[in-house]
Amino acid sequence: MKIQENVPLAPLTTFGIGGPARWFVEAADETEVLEAVRWARERSLRLFVLGGGSNLLVADAGFDGLVLRVAIKGIEVVPGVNAWVYSVGAGEEWDGFVQRTVMDCCAGIECLAGIPGTVGGTPVQNVGAYGQEVAESIARVRVLDLETLGFREMEAAECGFTYRQSLFNSSAKGRYLVLRVDYRLRPGGAANLRYADLLRVFPAGSQPNLAEVAAAVRRIRQSKGMLLVEGDADCRSAGSFFKNPIVDESMLDEITARAGARPPIYPAAEGLVKLPAAWLIERAGFEKGFQLGRAGISSRHTLALVNLGGATAGEILALRDFIVERVGAQFRVSLTMEPVLLGF
Ligand SMILES: Cc1cc2nc3c(=O)[nH]c(=O)nc-3n(C[C@H](O)[C@H](O)[C@H](O)COP(=O)(O)OP(=O)(O)OC[C@H]3O[C@@H](n4cnc5c(N)ncnc54)[C@H](O)[C@@H]3O)c2cc1C
Repeated sequence: MKIQENVPLAPLTTFGIGGPARWFVEAADETEVLEAVRWARERSLRLFVLGGGSNLLVADAGFDGLVLRVAIKGIEVVPGVNAWVYSVGAGEEWDGFVQRTVMDCCAGIECLAGIPGTVGGTPVQNVGAYGQEVAESIARVRVLDLETLGFREMEAAECGFTYRQSLFNSSAKGRYLVLRVDYRLRPGGAANLRYADLLRVFPAGSQPNLAEVAAAVRRIRQSKGMLLVEGDADCRSAGSFFKNPIVDESMLDEITARAGARPPIYPAAEGLVKLPAAWLIERAGFEKGFQLGRAGISSRHTLALVNLGGATAGEILALRDFIVERVGAQFRVSLTMEPVLLGF
Protein backbone atom coordinates (compact mmCIF):
# COMPACT_ATOMS: atom_id res chain seq x y z
CA MET A 1 0.00 0.00 0.00
CA LYS A 2 1.51 3.31 -1.11
CA ILE A 3 -0.04 6.38 0.48
CA GLN A 4 0.68 9.53 -1.49
CA GLU A 5 0.33 13.17 -0.45
CA ASN A 6 -1.27 16.13 -2.22
CA VAL A 7 -2.37 14.28 -5.34
CA PRO A 8 -4.23 16.42 -7.92
CA LEU A 9 -7.77 15.08 -8.37
CA ALA A 10 -8.80 17.04 -11.47
CA PRO A 11 -7.08 14.61 -13.89
CA LEU A 12 -8.88 11.72 -12.18
CA THR A 13 -12.30 13.18 -13.00
CA THR A 14 -14.13 13.61 -16.31
CA PHE A 15 -14.92 17.26 -15.43
CA GLY A 16 -11.18 17.92 -15.06
CA ILE A 17 -11.90 20.21 -12.12
CA GLY A 18 -10.85 20.39 -8.47
CA GLY A 19 -7.93 20.64 -6.08
CA PRO A 20 -5.76 17.90 -4.57
CA ALA A 21 -6.41 15.05 -2.18
CA ARG A 22 -4.42 15.59 1.01
CA TRP A 23 -3.88 11.81 1.04
CA PHE A 24 -4.38 9.32 -1.80
CA VAL A 25 -4.10 5.58 -2.17
CA GLU A 26 -4.97 3.01 -4.83
CA ALA A 27 -6.15 -0.36 -3.52
CA ALA A 28 -5.88 -3.40 -5.81
CA ASP A 29 -7.44 -6.03 -3.55
CA GLU A 30 -9.57 -6.45 -0.42
CA THR A 31 -6.57 -6.60 1.90
CA GLU A 32 -5.25 -3.27 0.59
CA VAL A 33 -8.70 -1.71 0.89
CA LEU A 34 -8.96 -2.76 4.53
CA GLU A 35 -5.43 -1.59 5.24
CA ALA A 36 -6.13 1.84 3.73
CA VAL A 37 -9.41 2.22 5.62
CA ARG A 38 -7.65 1.34 8.91
CA TRP A 39 -4.86 3.82 8.09
CA ALA A 40 -7.44 6.61 7.70
CA ARG A 41 -9.24 5.57 10.89
CA GLU A 42 -6.11 5.57 13.01
CA ARG A 43 -5.56 9.19 11.95
CA SER A 44 -9.25 10.21 12.23
CA LEU A 45 -9.24 11.17 8.55
CA ARG A 46 -12.31 11.45 6.39
CA LEU A 47 -12.45 8.83 3.65
CA PHE A 48 -13.71 9.19 0.10
CA VAL A 49 -14.08 6.21 -2.25
CA LEU A 50 -13.19 7.07 -5.84
CA GLY A 51 -14.03 5.07 -8.94
CA GLY A 52 -13.60 6.59 -12.40
CA GLY A 53 -14.47 10.12 -11.28
CA SER A 54 -17.19 10.39 -13.92
CA ASN A 55 -19.98 11.42 -11.57
CA LEU A 56 -18.01 13.77 -9.41
CA LEU A 57 -17.36 17.47 -8.88
CA VAL A 58 -14.34 18.15 -6.66
CA ALA A 59 -14.04 21.46 -4.77
CA ASP A 60 -11.37 23.89 -5.89
CA ALA A 61 -9.65 23.52 -2.51
CA GLY A 62 -9.58 19.74 -2.90
CA PHE A 63 -10.29 17.22 -0.14
CA ASP A 64 -8.61 17.21 3.26
CA GLY A 65 -8.82 13.45 3.86
CA LEU A 66 -7.90 10.13 2.25
CA VAL A 67 -9.12 9.41 -1.27
CA LEU A 68 -9.15 5.65 -1.81
CA ARG A 69 -9.28 4.72 -5.47
CA VAL A 70 -10.68 1.22 -5.95
CA ALA A 71 -8.54 -0.70 -8.45
CA ILE A 72 -9.79 -4.25 -7.83
CA LYS A 73 -9.77 -6.06 -11.19
CA GLY A 74 -11.00 -9.39 -12.48
CA ILE A 75 -13.99 -10.85 -14.28
CA GLU A 76 -15.16 -14.39 -13.47
CA VAL A 77 -18.03 -16.04 -15.30
CA VAL A 78 -20.26 -18.90 -14.19
CA PRO A 79 -22.20 -20.00 -17.29
CA GLY A 80 -25.64 -21.55 -16.80
CA VAL A 81 -28.51 -22.56 -19.08
CA ASN A 82 -30.76 -19.56 -18.43
CA ALA A 83 -28.28 -17.18 -16.90
CA TRP A 84 -24.56 -16.42 -16.87
CA VAL A 85 -23.34 -14.80 -13.67
CA TYR A 86 -20.42 -12.39 -14.07
CA SER A 87 -18.51 -11.55 -10.87
CA VAL A 88 -16.64 -8.35 -11.59
CA GLY A 89 -14.04 -6.45 -9.55
CA ALA A 90 -15.23 -2.96 -8.60
CA GLY A 91 -12.23 -1.36 -10.29
CA GLU A 92 -12.93 -2.83 -13.73
CA GLU A 93 -13.80 -0.26 -16.38
CA TRP A 94 -17.55 -0.46 -16.95
CA ASP A 95 -17.59 -0.02 -20.72
CA GLY A 96 -14.95 -2.71 -21.24
CA PHE A 97 -17.08 -5.12 -19.22
CA VAL A 98 -20.16 -4.27 -21.30
CA GLN A 99 -18.21 -4.99 -24.49
CA ARG A 100 -17.16 -8.36 -23.08
CA THR A 101 -20.76 -9.41 -22.30
CA VAL A 102 -21.92 -8.28 -25.74
CA MET A 103 -19.20 -10.42 -27.36
CA ASP A 104 -20.41 -13.33 -25.18
CA CYS A 105 -23.97 -12.74 -26.53
CA CYS A 106 -25.28 -12.21 -23.00
CA ALA A 107 -28.13 -9.70 -22.82
CA GLY A 108 -28.95 -7.31 -20.00
CA ILE A 109 -26.55 -4.37 -20.12
CA GLU A 110 -26.08 -3.74 -23.87
CA CYS A 111 -27.91 -0.38 -23.70
CA LEU A 112 -25.45 0.80 -21.04
CA ALA A 113 -22.54 0.74 -23.48
CA GLY A 114 -20.38 3.85 -23.55
CA ILE A 115 -21.02 4.96 -19.96
CA PRO A 116 -17.73 5.94 -18.33
CA GLY A 117 -16.62 4.95 -14.85
CA THR A 118 -16.02 1.75 -12.96
CA VAL A 119 -18.12 -1.32 -12.22
CA GLY A 120 -18.15 -0.35 -8.53
CA GLY A 121 -19.80 2.97 -9.39
CA THR A 122 -22.77 1.36 -11.15
CA PRO A 123 -24.82 0.17 -8.16
CA VAL A 124 -24.24 3.47 -6.35
CA GLN A 125 -26.63 5.52 -8.50
CA ASN A 126 -28.27 2.55 -10.24
CA VAL A 127 -26.75 3.56 -13.55
CA GLY A 128 -29.22 3.62 -16.39
CA ALA A 129 -29.71 4.72 -19.97
CA TYR A 130 -31.77 3.95 -23.06
CA GLY A 131 -34.41 1.96 -21.20
CA GLN A 132 -32.09 -0.18 -19.08
CA GLU A 133 -30.64 0.15 -15.58
CA VAL A 134 -28.21 -2.04 -13.66
CA ALA A 135 -30.85 -2.86 -11.02
CA GLU A 136 -32.37 -5.24 -13.60
CA SER A 137 -29.22 -7.36 -13.83
CA ILE A 138 -27.37 -7.02 -10.52
CA ALA A 139 -27.65 -10.23 -8.51
CA ARG A 140 -25.55 -9.22 -5.50
CA VAL A 141 -22.93 -6.75 -4.37
CA ARG A 142 -19.93 -7.56 -2.19
CA VAL A 143 -19.11 -4.71 0.17
CA LEU A 144 -16.90 -3.66 3.03
CA ASP A 145 -19.04 -2.20 5.81
CA LEU A 146 -17.10 0.87 6.87
CA GLU A 147 -18.86 0.95 10.26
CA THR A 148 -18.05 -2.61 11.34
CA LEU A 149 -15.09 -3.25 8.98
CA GLY A 150 -16.77 -6.56 8.07
CA PHE A 151 -17.19 -7.95 4.54
CA ARG A 152 -20.75 -8.69 3.35
CA GLU A 153 -22.67 -9.94 0.33
CA MET A 154 -25.81 -7.92 -0.29
CA GLU A 155 -28.60 -9.34 -2.46
CA ALA A 156 -30.04 -6.94 -5.03
CA ALA A 157 -33.29 -6.67 -3.06
CA GLU A 158 -31.33 -5.22 -0.11
CA CYS A 159 -29.76 -2.48 -2.24
CA GLY A 160 -32.90 -0.32 -2.46
CA PHE A 161 -32.63 0.43 -6.17
CA THR A 162 -34.90 3.12 -7.65
CA TYR A 163 -34.34 5.79 -10.32
CA ARG A 164 -30.67 6.97 -9.95
CA GLN A 165 -30.76 5.84 -6.36
CA SER A 166 -29.72 3.00 -4.08
CA LEU A 167 -29.04 2.70 -0.40
CA PHE A 168 -25.39 3.45 -1.28
CA ASN A 169 -26.21 7.06 -2.19
CA SER A 170 -29.19 7.61 0.12
CA SER A 171 -30.02 5.99 3.49
CA ALA A 172 -26.58 4.33 3.90
CA LYS A 173 -24.53 6.92 2.02
CA GLY A 174 -20.81 6.51 2.75
CA ARG A 175 -21.27 3.33 4.77
CA TYR A 176 -20.36 0.69 2.21
CA LEU A 177 -17.40 0.33 -0.09
CA VAL A 178 -18.25 -1.78 -3.14
CA LEU A 179 -15.64 -4.47 -3.82
CA ARG A 180 -17.34 -6.68 -6.41
CA VAL A 181 -20.61 -6.77 -8.31
CA ASP A 182 -22.34 -9.92 -9.64
CA TYR A 183 -24.52 -9.44 -12.73
CA ARG A 184 -26.99 -12.07 -13.93
CA LEU A 185 -27.27 -11.89 -17.74
CA ARG A 186 -29.28 -13.83 -20.35
CA PRO A 187 -27.21 -15.96 -22.77
CA GLY A 188 -28.64 -15.65 -26.28
CA GLY A 189 -31.20 -13.12 -24.98
CA ALA A 190 -32.71 -10.46 -27.23
CA ALA A 191 -31.60 -6.85 -26.99
CA ASN A 192 -33.68 -4.39 -25.04
CA LEU A 193 -35.39 -2.03 -27.47
CA ARG A 194 -37.66 0.20 -25.44
CA TYR A 195 -36.24 3.63 -25.96
CA ALA A 196 -37.44 5.97 -28.73
CA ASP A 197 -33.90 6.86 -29.92
CA LEU A 198 -33.14 3.17 -30.41
CA LEU A 199 -36.49 2.38 -32.02
CA ARG A 200 -35.71 5.00 -34.66
CA VAL A 201 -32.53 3.05 -35.54
CA PHE A 202 -34.15 -0.38 -35.30
CA PRO A 203 -37.79 -0.20 -36.43
CA ALA A 204 -40.38 -2.73 -35.23
CA GLY A 205 -39.68 -6.20 -36.60
CA SER A 206 -35.93 -5.77 -36.91
CA GLN A 207 -33.91 -8.09 -34.71
CA PRO A 208 -30.50 -6.52 -34.17
CA ASN A 209 -27.92 -8.46 -32.23
CA LEU A 210 -26.43 -7.14 -29.01
CA ALA A 211 -23.29 -5.82 -30.69
CA GLU A 212 -25.38 -3.82 -33.17
CA VAL A 213 -27.46 -2.33 -30.36
CA ALA A 214 -24.40 -1.46 -28.26
CA ALA A 215 -22.78 0.17 -31.31
CA ALA A 216 -25.96 2.17 -32.01
CA VAL A 217 -26.07 3.33 -28.38
CA ARG A 218 -22.46 4.53 -28.67
CA ARG A 219 -23.24 6.44 -31.89
CA ILE A 220 -26.27 8.13 -30.30
CA ARG A 221 -24.20 8.96 -27.22
CA GLN A 222 -21.41 10.43 -29.31
CA SER A 223 -23.87 12.59 -31.25
CA LYS A 224 -24.97 14.05 -27.90
CA GLY A 225 -21.46 14.48 -26.47
CA MET A 226 -22.24 11.75 -23.94
CA LEU A 227 -19.37 9.48 -24.93
CA LEU A 228 -15.83 10.19 -23.76
CA VAL A 229 -13.98 11.06 -26.95
CA GLU A 230 -10.51 12.59 -26.88
CA GLY A 231 -10.71 16.23 -27.96
CA ASP A 232 -14.51 16.49 -27.72
CA ALA A 233 -15.10 19.55 -25.50
CA ASP A 234 -18.72 18.57 -24.84
CA CYS A 235 -17.75 15.50 -22.87
CA ARG A 236 -15.71 17.40 -20.26
CA SER A 237 -18.67 16.87 -17.96
CA ALA A 238 -20.18 14.46 -15.47
CA GLY A 239 -22.87 13.33 -17.93
CA SER A 240 -26.38 14.45 -17.01
CA PHE A 241 -26.05 17.12 -14.36
CA PHE A 242 -29.69 17.08 -13.22
CA LYS A 243 -32.03 14.22 -12.43
CA ASN A 244 -35.31 14.04 -14.32
CA PRO A 245 -37.95 15.25 -11.84
CA ILE A 246 -40.77 12.92 -10.81
CA VAL A 247 -44.08 14.72 -10.28
CA ASP A 248 -47.76 13.91 -9.67
CA GLU A 249 -50.68 14.66 -12.04
CA SER A 250 -51.58 18.01 -10.46
CA MET A 251 -48.00 19.23 -10.76
CA LEU A 252 -47.92 18.04 -14.37
CA ASP A 253 -51.05 20.12 -15.07
CA GLU A 254 -49.48 23.15 -13.45
CA ILE A 255 -46.26 22.78 -15.47
CA THR A 256 -48.32 22.38 -18.65
CA ALA A 257 -50.25 25.57 -17.87
CA ARG A 258 -47.10 27.52 -17.05
CA ALA A 259 -45.24 26.29 -20.16
CA GLY A 260 -48.20 26.54 -22.50
CA ALA A 261 -47.33 23.01 -23.67
CA ARG A 262 -47.40 19.53 -22.24
CA PRO A 263 -43.97 18.05 -21.51
CA PRO A 264 -43.04 14.59 -22.74
CA ILE A 265 -43.59 12.14 -19.90
CA TYR A 266 -42.24 8.73 -18.90
CA PRO A 267 -43.78 6.26 -16.48
CA ALA A 268 -42.69 6.36 -12.83
CA ALA A 269 -44.22 4.88 -9.67
CA GLU A 270 -48.03 4.70 -9.49
CA GLY A 271 -49.70 8.11 -9.84
CA LEU A 272 -46.41 9.76 -10.79
CA VAL A 273 -44.61 10.63 -14.02
CA LYS A 274 -41.02 11.44 -14.87
CA LEU A 275 -40.34 14.45 -17.06
CA PRO A 276 -37.19 15.47 -18.89
CA ALA A 277 -35.19 18.04 -16.91
CA ALA A 278 -33.75 19.11 -20.29
CA TRP A 279 -37.23 20.15 -21.48
CA LEU A 280 -37.76 22.30 -18.37
CA ILE A 281 -34.33 23.89 -18.70
CA GLU A 282 -34.92 24.76 -22.36
CA ARG A 283 -38.40 26.15 -21.62
CA ALA A 284 -36.87 28.26 -18.86
CA GLY A 285 -34.86 30.02 -21.53
CA PHE A 286 -31.54 28.17 -21.66
CA GLU A 287 -30.16 27.02 -24.97
CA LYS A 288 -27.54 24.43 -25.77
CA GLY A 289 -24.14 26.14 -25.71
CA PHE A 290 -25.19 28.69 -23.05
CA GLN A 291 -22.14 29.99 -21.15
CA LEU A 292 -21.56 31.54 -17.75
CA GLY A 293 -17.89 32.27 -17.22
CA ARG A 294 -15.93 29.14 -18.11
CA ALA A 295 -18.88 26.86 -17.34
CA GLY A 296 -21.47 26.07 -19.95
CA ILE A 297 -24.32 23.89 -21.14
CA SER A 298 -23.12 21.31 -23.65
CA SER A 299 -23.64 22.40 -27.25
CA ARG A 300 -25.32 19.00 -27.92
CA HIS A 301 -27.18 18.12 -24.73
CA THR A 302 -29.02 20.53 -22.45
CA LEU A 303 -28.65 18.26 -19.45
CA ALA A 304 -24.84 18.24 -19.39
CA LEU A 305 -22.91 21.09 -17.80
CA VAL A 306 -19.40 21.32 -19.20
CA ASN A 307 -16.02 22.70 -18.27
CA LEU A 308 -15.31 25.01 -21.20
CA GLY A 309 -11.62 25.06 -20.27
CA GLY A 310 -10.11 26.02 -16.93
CA ALA A 311 -13.50 26.27 -15.18
CA THR A 312 -13.54 26.16 -11.40
CA ALA A 313 -15.97 24.12 -9.34
CA GLY A 314 -17.35 27.48 -8.18
CA GLU A 315 -18.20 28.40 -11.78
CA ILE A 316 -19.99 25.09 -12.37
CA LEU A 317 -22.02 25.58 -9.20
CA ALA A 318 -22.84 29.19 -10.14
CA LEU A 319 -24.28 27.90 -13.43
CA ARG A 320 -26.14 25.14 -11.56
CA ASP A 321 -27.68 27.71 -9.19
CA PHE A 322 -28.69 29.97 -12.07
CA ILE A 323 -30.48 27.13 -13.85
CA VAL A 324 -32.12 25.78 -10.67
CA GLU A 325 -33.36 29.26 -9.74
CA ARG A 326 -34.88 29.98 -13.17
CA VAL A 327 -36.54 26.56 -13.53
CA GLY A 328 -37.86 26.88 -9.96
CA ALA A 329 -39.23 30.37 -10.57
CA GLN A 330 -40.90 29.39 -13.85
CA PHE A 331 -42.25 25.92 -13.06
CA ARG A 332 -42.05 25.57 -9.27
CA VAL A 333 -39.97 22.43 -9.82
CA SER A 334 -36.83 21.99 -7.80
CA LEU A 335 -34.10 20.37 -9.92
CA THR A 336 -31.65 18.15 -8.06
CA MET A 337 -28.13 17.47 -9.23
CA GLU A 338 -26.90 14.01 -10.10
CA PRO A 339 -23.10 14.20 -9.65
CA VAL A 340 -21.56 13.79 -6.21
CA LEU A 341 -19.83 16.77 -4.56
CA LEU A 342 -16.47 16.23 -2.83
CA GLY A 343 -14.75 18.67 -0.50
CA PHE A 344 -17.50 21.30 -0.26
C1 LIG B 1 -20.03 11.55 -20.67
C2 LIG B 1 -20.76 10.91 -19.52
C3 LIG B 1 -21.92 10.18 -19.74
C4 LIG B 1 -22.61 9.57 -18.67
N1 LIG B 1 -23.76 8.88 -18.93
C5 LIG B 1 -24.43 8.30 -17.91
C6 LIG B 1 -25.64 7.57 -18.15
O1 LIG B 1 -26.09 7.43 -19.28
N2 LIG B 1 -26.29 7.01 -17.09
C7 LIG B 1 -25.80 7.13 -15.83
O2 LIG B 1 -26.46 6.57 -14.91
N3 LIG B 1 -24.67 7.80 -15.56
C8 LIG B 1 -23.97 8.40 -16.55
N4 LIG B 1 -22.83 9.10 -16.30
C9 LIG B 1 -22.37 9.25 -14.91
C10 LIG B 1 -21.29 8.23 -14.48
O3 LIG B 1 -20.59 7.74 -15.59
C11 LIG B 1 -21.88 7.04 -13.73
O4 LIG B 1 -22.62 7.47 -12.63
C12 LIG B 1 -20.77 6.07 -13.25
O5 LIG B 1 -21.35 4.87 -12.82
C13 LIG B 1 -19.93 6.63 -12.11
O6 LIG B 1 -18.93 5.68 -11.80
P1 LIG B 1 -17.50 6.12 -11.35
O7 LIG B 1 -16.70 4.89 -11.13
O8 LIG B 1 -16.91 7.10 -12.30
O9 LIG B 1 -17.83 6.81 -9.95
P2 LIG B 1 -17.19 8.13 -9.32
O10 LIG B 1 -17.55 9.30 -10.14
O11 LIG B 1 -15.75 7.91 -9.03
O12 LIG B 1 -17.98 8.20 -7.94
C14 LIG B 1 -19.36 8.50 -7.93
C15 LIG B 1 -19.95 8.08 -6.58
O13 LIG B 1 -19.86 6.67 -6.44
C16 LIG B 1 -19.07 6.33 -5.31
N5 LIG B 1 -18.29 5.14 -5.63
C17 LIG B 1 -17.55 4.90 -6.75
N6 LIG B 1 -16.98 3.69 -6.67
C18 LIG B 1 -17.37 3.15 -5.50
C19 LIG B 1 -17.11 1.91 -4.84
N7 LIG B 1 -16.32 0.97 -5.36
N8 LIG B 1 -17.68 1.70 -3.62
C20 LIG B 1 -18.48 2.63 -3.06
N9 LIG B 1 -18.76 3.82 -3.63
C21 LIG B 1 -18.20 4.07 -4.84
C22 LIG B 1 -18.21 7.54 -5.01
O14 LIG B 1 -17.83 7.58 -3.63
C23 LIG B 1 -19.16 8.65 -5.39
O15 LIG B 1 -20.05 8.90 -4.34
C24 LIG B 1 -22.11 9.71 -17.35
C25 LIG B 1 -20.95 10.45 -17.13
C26 LIG B 1 -20.27 11.04 -18.20
C27 LIG B 1 -19.01 11.83 -17.94
